[in-house]
Amino acid sequence: MPAPHSAFDAMQARLRAAAELYGLEEALFKVFITPMRSVIVSLPVHMDDGSWEVFTGYRVQHNIARGPSKGGIRFDMGVTLDEIKAGAAWNTWKCALVDVPFGGGKGGVVCDPSRMSQGELERLTRRYTAEIMDMLGSDRDIPGPDMGTSPQVMAWILDTYAMHARRTDNAVVTGKPIGLGGSLGRAEATGRGVLISAREAMQRLGKPLAGATVAIQGFGNVGSQSARLLHEAGARIVAVSDANGAIRNDRGIDVHALMKHTTETKSPVGFKGAEPMDAKELLLMAVDILVPAATDNQITEENAIKVRAKVIVEGSNGPTTPEADPILFSNGVLVVPDILASVGGLTVSYFEWVQNRIGYYWREREVNERLVEYMTHAFQAVFATTDKYKTTPRIGAYILALDRVAQALHSRGFYA
Ligand code: NAD
Repeated sequence: MPAPHSAFDAMQARLRAAAELYGLEEALFKVFITPMRSVIVSLPVHMDDGSWEVFTGYRVQHNIARGPSKGGIRFDMGVTLDEIKAGAAWNTWKCALVDVPFGGGKGGVVCDPSRMSQGELERLTRRYTAEIMDMLGSDRDIPGPDMGTSPQVMAWILDTYAMHARRTDNAVVTGKPIGLGGSLGRAEATGRGVLISAREAMQRLGKPLAGATVAIQGFGNVGSQSARLLHEAGARIVAVSDANGAIRNDRGIDVHALMKHTTETKSPVGFKGAEPMDAKELLLMAVDILVPAATDNQITEENAIKVRAKVIVEGSNGPTTPEADPILFSNGVLVVPDILASVGGLTVSYFEWVQNRIGYYWREREVNERLVEYMTHAFQAVFATTDKYKTTPRIGAYILALDRVAQALHSRGFYA
């Protein structure tokens, strides 16, 4: 078994390939593989049993040439500086691709939120916010939710920031509860982006989305919303999995019933309208569309050769390793890369920030229509770049993104 990839190394490998094809100056490449600011904070927190625990938190700002840094905060035991650096860089590329005026950031705290009380989580969040206070601001760095964090965590960040800044600034975080200025459509936005990407990819193959067969790995926020929206668009969801196992029904899973079952039992496994299957086999099914929506390093040099999907729409970050890319490409699998396919949430976060700043809120239909417009535009620009450089859509996406960030850097010049 090859060693699992460092997320930052995987990002750097794709960036290197794109930079060579594009002809990027070496100095700019160095700028892009060196995040602008990485902060490590130590967070003493009073636990419910009277003890103190010291947590480690990170916030990384990768690049701010195109605007303030934007990126989620992850609460998870697996959080590392390497992973946060990769996430911050991916966000620079995602914001550039979808053409919103942000740079890339990311944050995280090493903790297990499932084992902490609400009070402990609130104290941890507030201490973390206070420690990175100088980095934050609606014109500086704007966090949002990620794995293990929620609209409630965003509300505590907003409040702690407001107490220190002595003023309200709702646009300092996105993914907030609707009553605090959150945007309609945010919760399902990443899934909606997967739907838009799947439709565009099928169109590129000259096939309709309606009737297409789909397998989805992961049934959390991204996986379940992607399943629901693809199902409502007429696609046939034939398999889904989560960390506990996988299920399949070749005639099509009733996704609404599956979501109800998952809410009640916390897992899609055990759903009566499908048969159990080997979770590893799900990635290798002969379907029209495969949606990885779980975790990184899932399609590797080991299993890529056996992938039979026509299209892969990467809803999760980093599901495919750099070694698997050329194997999928030579087997004719059309991959919509993560930095494009998973950008729906970030785009609606941008809409939330805009609505907070103008103080005027859009109807859900308007949010969804604007998301289609932004993502369709990004998809077409990525594939035009891919065709121009005769490369893979992933490297095409990186070229388009680095071109936009490089242009911004050149216009600003380097302050010294
Ligand atoms: P989540 O925690 O809500 O769901 C993750 C799901 O994956 C769960 O169902 C979990 O059981 C499952 N899972 C974990 N390991 C698995 C495995 N080995 N095999 C099969 N299933 C497995 O997380 P989410 O918000 O849905 O995010 C999923 C991925 O998408 C992450 O990579 C995240 O960074 C990325 N992402 C999320 C958003 C967003 O808006 N939520 C935006 C962009 C990217």
